[in-house]
Amino acid sequence: MTDSTLPFRLPPSDLYEQIAQSHPSLLAGRVICGKCGQTRQVEAAACLRHGWPKCPCGGGTMGLASTTKEKGK
Ligand SMILES: [Zn+2]
Repeated sequence: MTDSTLPFRLPPSDLYEQIAQSHPSLLAGRVICGKCGQTRQVEAAACLRHGWPKCPCGGGTMGLASTTKEKGK
């Protein structure tokens, strides 16, 4: 843990934990690349804080797998 001095208090990280746990798709923490379809396991709360990961293929930011249309389901 870094002990950086901030000019103001950031909102409690619990907020993100709450959000992450309020959606099954966020709990699953599974993101998918819209370009190549590669999936990745992430910590949803961390992604809500810092942003979603970018796919190594360069296709862009990955999004929640369950919010993407799955074919054959
Ligand atoms: Zn990709």
